[in-house]
Amino acid sequence: MSAMNSDRPGLPQELDEALDAVLPILNDMKKSLRATPVASRAALDQLFSLPDSFIKKDPASAAAAVVAPAPPAAQSSAPASGKPSTGDDGRLAKLAELKTKILACTNCTHLVTSRTQVVYGVGNPFSELLFVGEAPGEEEDLRGEPFVGKAGQLLTRIIGAMEYTREEIFIANVLKCRPNMPAGEAGNRKPKPAEMATCLPWLRDQIDLIKPKVIVALGLTAVEGLLGEPRTMRDVRGKWLDYHGVPLMPTYHPAYLLRNQTMAEKRKVWEDMLLVLEKLGRPISAKQRGYFLEKA
Ligand code: SF4
Repeated sequence: MSAMNSDRPGLPQELDEALDAVLPILNDMKKSLRATPVASRAALDQLFSLPDSFIKKDPASAAAAVVAPAPPAAQSSAPASGKPSTGDDGRLAKLAELKTKILACTNCTHLVTSRTQVVYGVGNPFSELLFVGEAPGEEEDLRGEPFVGKAGQLLTRIIGAMEYTREEIFIANVLKCRPNMPAGEAGNRKPKPAEMATCLPWLRDQIDLIKPKVIVALGLTAVEGLLGEPRTMRDVRGKWLDYHGVPLMPTYHPAYLLRNQTMAEKRKVWEDMLLVLEKLGRPISAKQRGYFLEKA
């Protein structure tokens, strides 16, 4: 007979332990939903332009994403519903264990003292699509979630234009802690190659467990962090690379698009995303194919 747990009286110990493993993952998904703006199809014409007001949260859509997950079998090919799968082959427990280790990591002593918290990543742990950025900035460090600033809002728009929601995919950084700044200096800095190399095994473990079909590297720093060697954006953007057997698509970081809001640059990123959708076998509408081909 199973022992009873004092925290949850009456619950068998094995169920209590399973709950302990799964609850952190569910809390992450809940947190993601709370912070997730849902792209409005009517706003697609202004995609990537990031107007004054950010996309408003749509609780009804978010709730629908929670109550209508796709069955695990739908993950073998592009799910027509586009909804996240909650099927589990033991990955939830392993991811929970991995997350506990990452959140407690002290491998970079200089970052441990400056960070607010470790930014593990957010989204669907069964996602076929993984977006990888370089490192948390100030807002991400405070919120504990990647891509929550203006660049994050723009990334959410891009994800929406791909007919995904933020909670259907997974977003993580190469570096899990915010790069420290010199005393008295505000802003963010790029992670150093040595810092990314130190942290990369955590991301590799995440990828091994999430098993995405495609990885999108946002910005050259993320590409270099993943591949461990310098590249030029001219050489890699829009071309399929390989990350340990997973197709890797490098594209511009959303922050770059915020600084360069020309139709031509937006179109480049969008063409990269079209390649990603094709690789995933997702349906692409004529309207989607035509984004940013019009004259400004
Ligand atoms: S950056 Fe990565 S390796 Fe360094 S302390 Fe943070 S989690 Fe650990």
